Amino acid sequence: MRLVLATSNKGKVKEIKALCKDYEVIPYSELIEEFEIIEDGDTFKENALIKARAVFKALNTDDVIVLADDSGISVEVVGGRPGIFSARHAGSDASDKDNLYKLIEDIKATGHENSPAFYTAAIAIVTKKSEFTVHGWMYGTALSKAVGDGGFGYDPMFIPLGYKNTLGELDDDIKRKLSHRAKALKLARIILASL
Ligand code: IMP
Repeated sequence: MRLVLATSNKGKVKEIKALCKDYEVIPYSELIEEFEIIEDGDTFKENALIKARAVFKALNTDDVIVLADDSGISVEVVGGRPGIFSARHAGSDASDKDNLYKLIEDIKATGHENSPAFYTAAIAIVTKKSEFTVHGWMYGTALSKAVGDGGFGYDPMFIPLGYKNTLGELDDDIKRKLSHRAKALKLARIILASL
């Protein structure tokens, strides 16, 4: 089955491909020109649906399943931020590194060295006939420093519960077992199998 991803985020595409090896996974930008999608929902779920619907419509064919991931990190000592604003924490054109170091500075500014934190992933699946959403979470600790250069985004500052190293240091295989995205995709795969 052919799954079109409503994202071009390289980190997400790599992880989703690795977790859906039995599907033909294609980022939508390989099929049509990339376009801006205004993510103005109030929740991860709404934003995932906004992305999946926008790409489904733009592809202009009924013969496709579109999957979108909206995700982010929530850090307790900074009031649960950046949450749904994770991709633009340091501004609308911010890079992953800008966002990472801004969040590190935010934690330092509270006087804490670390904080309980969690990642959320909402996955939306849109087809001609139906729409579905599922979620997954990963809990752990956000540090006020970056360690390791694996993973993507905020991974170098996040230690999953039960581990001593950041996702920037741990093997990709470990993240694939634990992550918010892996958990949401496990549920998404049950839906995909029923389509
Ligand atoms: P989205 O593409 O609008 O869903 O934005 C997701 C934001 O959260 C980006 O800034 C990502 O870097 C960050 N993010 C989401 N999932 C992860 C992850 O698994 N590791 C690190 N950062 C993540």
